[in-house]
Amino acid sequence: MALLRNIFKGGAAVPHRKNTAQKETLKMNVPEKVIIPMLQHIGAPCEPLVKKGDTVKVGQIIGNSDKFVSAPVHSSVSGTVTNIVPVLFPGGMQVTSVEITTDGMQEVHESVKPISYSSNKELLEAIRQSGLVGLGGAGFPTHVKLSPPPDKPVDTLIINAAECEPYITSDYREIIENSGNIIGGINILKELLKVKNVYIGIEDNKPEAIKVMTHLAEKIDDIKVIKLRSRYPQGAEKMLIYSITGRKVPPGKLPLDVGVIVMNVNSVSFVSEYIKTGMPLIKKRVTVDGSAVKNPSNVEILIGTPLKDVFDFCGGFNSEVHKVLMGGPMMGIAQHSLNLPVMKYTNALLAFGKEETETGEESPCIRCGRCVYACPMNLMPLYINLHALKENIDELEKYKPNDCIECGSCSYVCPAKRHLVQSIRLAKAQLRKAAAK
Ligand code: SF4
Ligand code: SF4
Repeated sequence: MALLRNIFKGGAAVPHRKNTAQKETLKMNVPEKVIIPMLQHIGAPCEPLVKKGDTVKVGQIIGNSDKFVSAPVHSSVSGTVTNIVPVLFPGGMQVTSVEITTDGMQEVHESVKPISYSSNKELLEAIRQSGLVGLGGAGFPTHVKLSPPPDKPVDTLIINAAECEPYITSDYREIIENSGNIIGGINILKELLKVKNVYIGIEDNKPEAIKVMTHLAEKIDDIKVIKLRSRYPQGAEKMLIYSITGRKVPPGKLPLDVGVIVMNVNSVSFVSEYIKTGMPLIKKRVTVDGSAVKNPSNVEILIGTPLKDVFDFCGGFNSEVHKVLMGGPMMGIAQHSLNLPVMKYTNALLAFGKEETETGEESPCIRCGRCVYACPMNLMPLYINLHALKENIDELEKYKPNDCIECGSCSYVCPAKRHLVQSIRLAKAQLRKAAAK
C-alpha cells in the first residue's frame, strides 16, 4: 500500500454515518412493475425501441440513440410494456419512460451471452452495448470516457473507491463482496488503455477495504492501493487526482487533460462481470438509509424499481418522511415522488424525518470566510451568493461560478445557513442565459 502524498485544500469534516457498512447486500424481489427512463446518463436521450403491448425479456435493449455520447437502456425484467409516458424528474425535466408490468419469470433475452472481442474497438463497442455509465453517481457513458482522443495520451487509471459522502456504503460492499471482479475489471482496462499506473484510492475510514484490495494488488505489478485522508469531497475527481498524483486539473478542463482516467470501483467491477456473462446493466447495489428508514440496508435492486417498493423492502418508514434523497446528503437530489424509479447511477436512497431536515433559518452573511476556506475549488461562495441574488452578471463572471463542482462544503460550514449551493446553481443559469442573448 502506498501512502498519500498530497492533500487537497479545503473541504469539510462531515460525519461518516456508514451505518450499513457491515451489512451484506440483500437481493430485492422482482417488483410488479418497473419504469425505465430513456435518459439515465449525461448525453443524448435514447429513443424507445419497443411499443405498448410488446413482450420483453431480461437484458433486452429497449432504448438506444445513434449519438456517441449516450448509452442504451435495457429491460431489467421479463414482462409486457404497458405504457410509454413522459415522467417528471427532479429539476423539471420530462423524460420518456417505458413502463413494464413484470411476469415474474425473469426470462433472459437470447442476446445475453458471454462477450468475446479481438480488438479494443470491439471491446469499446461491447461496453457501449452494456449500457454502462459512471456508477458512482455521475452517469457519464463509460465507452466515451474510455475513448481518449489521440492528442490526449493517458498514463494513469485511478479507481475511485473513496466513497466520501456520509451514509453511502455501496462501493465499500463491492470491495468486500466482489474484490475479484474489481481486479478482473482493472486488468481489462489496463490492457485497453495501456496505462503505466493504476491506483485504487480508498479513504482511511475503510480499513477492511484497504486490507482486502492491498492483499490482491500486491500480487499484480503496477497496481497500488492509496490510503486517502477521510475528508469530504475526497472522492470528487479533481481532488482525487491531486491527492494521488499531485496533478492539478485546471478549471474547465477534464482529467484527460492531465493524462488521467478516473473510474468508479463498481463500474470497473461491472466490466469484468459483463465480459463473463454478457448481462448488461440492469441492476444496482443501493444503500438505503436515513433516520426515517426502519431497516437501513444495502440492496441489489433491478433498475426501474419504484422507490416506494425499495423503502417497503427495507421495512418502510419509522416516522413521517420530510425528505427523500437520491445520492448522499451533500450532493444528493431531493425526490418529489416515491413513484420515481431507481436509475443506473443511483447509489443511495436516503429518507429523513423532520429533525434532520430542519436546517435553521437563513441569516445575513457575517463575512466569516469559512465558505472560502472550505471551497476545494478556490472560489468565494459568499460573493457568488451576493451577486446571484442581485443578478449582477458582470460581477458574477469575476467569481467563476462555473468552476463550482457543487460539492456543498460551503453550505455545510456556513454559520449563517446561507443557501450557497442553490445560489451558485442560480448563478450558473444566469450566466447561461446571458451568454445565449
Ligand atoms: S463553491 Fe462549489 S466547489 Fe466551492 S465549496 Fe461551494 S459547492 Fe463546493
Ligand atoms: S460562511 Fe456563510 S457567513 Fe461566513 S462568509 Fe461564507 S456565506 Fe458568509
